[in-house]
Order: sequence, then C-alpha cells, then structure tokens
Amino acid sequence: MKSKLIILGCGSSVGVPRIDGFWGNCDKNNKKNNRSRCSAIITKGSNSVLIDTSPDLRKQLLSNKIKKISSVIFTHEHADQTNGLFELRPFYWKNKRRIDIYGNLRTINHLKRSHKYLFKKISTYPPIVKANVINSNFSLGKLSEKIQFKAIKSIHGKTTSLIYIFENAAYISDCNDLSIVKIKNLKNLNYLIIDCLKFKKHPSHFNLKESLFVHRCLKPKKTILTNLHHDLDYDLLLRKLPKNVLPAYDGLTLNL
Ligand SMILES: [Zn+2]
Repeated sequence: MKSKLIILGCGSSVGVPRIDGFWGNCDKNNKKNNRSRCSAIITKGSNSVLIDTSPDLRKQLLSNKIKKISSVIFTHEHADQTNGLFELRPFYWKNKRRIDIYGNLRTINHLKRSHKYLFKKISTYPPIVKANVINSNFSLGKLSEKIQFKAIKSIHGKTTSLIYIFENAAYISDCNDLSIVKIKNLKNLNYLIIDCLKFKKHPSHFNLKESLFVHRCLKPKKTILTNLHHDLDYDLLLRKLPKNVLPAYDGLTLNL
C-alpha cells in the first residue's frame, strides 16, 4: 500500500508571518511563504501518524482535511513541537479511545509534567492520551497499513531530538549536527526532510550551507528544506538551490 507525507507546517518557532505581522524578507504575496510551525503527517491507507503537535495543529488539520489521527510521534519537547497536544481532544471525544503518543523518555516525562491533565484524571475532564516510550525500531498500524519506523537521536544545540526514518524518507526537523548518527541509516533515501533555519549560522539548527552539505553527503533522491525562518523567501531560496532540493511549504505532499 502506498504512503504519503504531508508537510503540515514548515516554519520556524515563530512562524511566518510572526504574531506581530512581521514577514522579514519573505514576500507576503506568495502563499508558500505563509508558514505555520513544524509538523507533518504520514498516511498509509487509514493509518495516519502525526509527527509533533504544533501550536498551529488545529488550522493545519482543517486546511488539509485530516479527520483522523491514529497515533502521534514526537521529535522532542520544545514548545513549537508540543504545544498543540491539547488540540487532540475532539479525536478522543469521537472515538472514546485514548490517542497513543510516542517519544523518548525525556519528551514523554516533559509532556506528563506540562500537560498533566491530558494523561491523568485530575479534574472532571478525562485523560485523552496514552504515553509510550520508544527506543529505536518500532511499527505503527496493522497489516498492509503498517509503517516501520527507526528513531535515532541527533544533536539539537544543547539538547537532542529524534530523527524518524520511515518508508525511505527521513524527517529531521530540528538538528544542527548529525555526527552521532550512523550514516548508513540515512543512505538510499527517496526523501530527506531537513532543518534549514537561516542563511546565517545558528547554535541549534542547520543553516542553508550546512543542510546543503548534508544533502551532498547523503545523496537522497530529493531533499526538502523545513523549519524555515522569515529571512528565507521561498522564490529566492528556490533560485539558489540545486535541482533536487526544494524549500518546503505548508501542505506540500510527498508520495513516498
Ligand atoms: Zn527544537
């Protein structure tokens, strides 16, 4: 069965435009510059696996007409990846089943502290998620809809984030150093979705020069740049990129 990945959001932690209407160097007349905070969804038949719960999750699911979430996998605990967790409540109300969420122990523990009421009955509201700690390899879904995942730790400034590899694609939204990752895990990819925050160097994200270096080393069939800040205008970036590298935009759909 065929699977696809939809980039629900490809913006940096503040989004484009920023909350105060600032577009930076981005042309506001180009819809592809309107970027919500990073999140993506993998679908295979009726199996739909959400990567991270962005603060913009509600709008992202509405825009992409996504009516079902089978499970959620988290890259790390930063606010731009997790603050939309609360938005999942209607899926619990519809199915009367807690939503399975997956992450490493640090991220799960953080979420249990920051969103206690979603995990444990502490008032009249029922808990809506069930926590699962993942280590390396795991699968989600059944039979022909099953998706195999590999979760690998990578460096994200002073902390770490998980890279997810699935269906010949790698999702690396928040990372500035892949030196602790065994490169053989990232070879022969059809798609590399990779952090590219800015032109300038940043302490916890790849910049353009660094993400293009990773692209040249790994040689995927196609590279998609994500986590784009407001200094990276879509058309300007596109003109600078090699043929098989593309800037992401919200709603970009990749057939895996
Ligand atoms: Zn982060």
